[in-house]
Amino acid sequence: MTAIRTSAKAESFTESVIREMTRHAVAHGAINLAQGFPDFPAPEEIKRAAMAAIEADVNQYAITWGARRLREAIAAKVARTYGTAVDPEREICVTCGATEGMIAAMLALVDPGDEVVVFEPFYENYGPDAILAGAVPRFVALREPDWTFDERELAAAFGPRTRAVILNTPNNPTGKVFTRAELQAVARLCERWGAVAISDEIYEHMTYDGAVHEPVARIPGMEDRTVTINGLSKTYSVTGWRVGWTIAPPDLTGAIRKVHDFLTVGAAAPLQEAGAAALELPGSYYSRLAADYLERRDVLLGALEAAGLKTSKPFGAYYVMCDVAGLGFADDVEAAMHLVRDVGVASVPGSSFFSRPELGRTKLRFSFCKRLETLREAGERLRALGR
Ligand code: GLN
Repeated sequence: MTAIRTSAKAESFTESVIREMTRHAVAHGAINLAQGFPDFPAPEEIKRAAMAAIEADVNQYAITWGARRLREAIAAKVARTYGTAVDPEREICVTCGATEGMIAAMLALVDPGDEVVVFEPFYENYGPDAILAGAVPRFVALREPDWTFDERELAAAFGPRTRAVILNTPNNPTGKVFTRAELQAVARLCERWGAVAISDEIYEHMTYDGAVHEPVARIPGMEDRTVTINGLSKTYSVTGWRVGWTIAPPDLTGAIRKVHDFLTVGAAAPLQEAGAAALELPGSYYSRLAADYLERRDVLLGALEAAGLKTSKPFGAYYVMCDVAGLGFADDVEAAMHLVRDVGVASVPGSSFFSRPELGRTKLRFSFCKRLETLREAGERLRALGR
């Protein structure tokens, strides 16, 4: 019998380590601080809106690039929040989560052999996204303590083959919130080399200690060369709904819509209706969200430090990167496996956020999108490490 071959693309990346750690958490009954999804309920009004949409028989395909009501709600919220005008008819594509938004944008804008600049550490999906698009990633280091980059190193990563730079601010896994000056440096290079920014801003409402989220599309010069990716998942605690979107100038959106249509046709129609209700929540919802996350952050930081881990304080998103160098593990995977099996707390091995595993060998990522009781219980368990 001839062996069936799988594709070279599929062979060239591994399963998601984040999702794998969730499976280990379930198998060992560990508290899951690995995958970033909340263990608390979504807002009542948006759950009711989803149920009402199904009752009202919003059960067939929405328009492939998104139900009009949701696109209008997205545009209205962007205008309210940032004062930026977005045309819901020509500049938005609703996708199955920000995840599909990213891969659709890459497939729509990048040709095989083109280069894509990626800041490192990076959310692990961006690696396989680049491979699936046939792009060659050029990594630029974000360095501790404030996870900033060297402008010369960034400039050296750009060149005539650069088609795009992937940004994620507020950042997963570092918690960095890119400053206006940093984004201006990126903008200068995008303009110089004719590149676009594909900017994942899914954590836009989670910033702490006065950090301010700057949408990349608002940096002068970037209006016409940015794809902004966002979604319902994190802001409204509905990661399983899989509703996200891209915002980009009409020509880019046209290409993204075509790719999206053939990838997935569209996101769940009733959940798009509920998404419109979510986006219509008042401003107080977002200040409350940020205040609640700040409290969760501080509980987790305290718990990790009490356990002897060296933490890097996040100013945005809902993850804490830690250094476990002092704890005597051979590497991050051994540390994470010990934690999930013997301590009962799941984290993500740092190597999954780097192009070369050795760069994350002493790091673990913990997420704090969990109830305070969950974080405190994780803290109790982690105390065993410090002893
Ligand atoms: N963004 C989340 C994380 O980094 C979860 C992503 C996912 O698993 N789809 O953990």
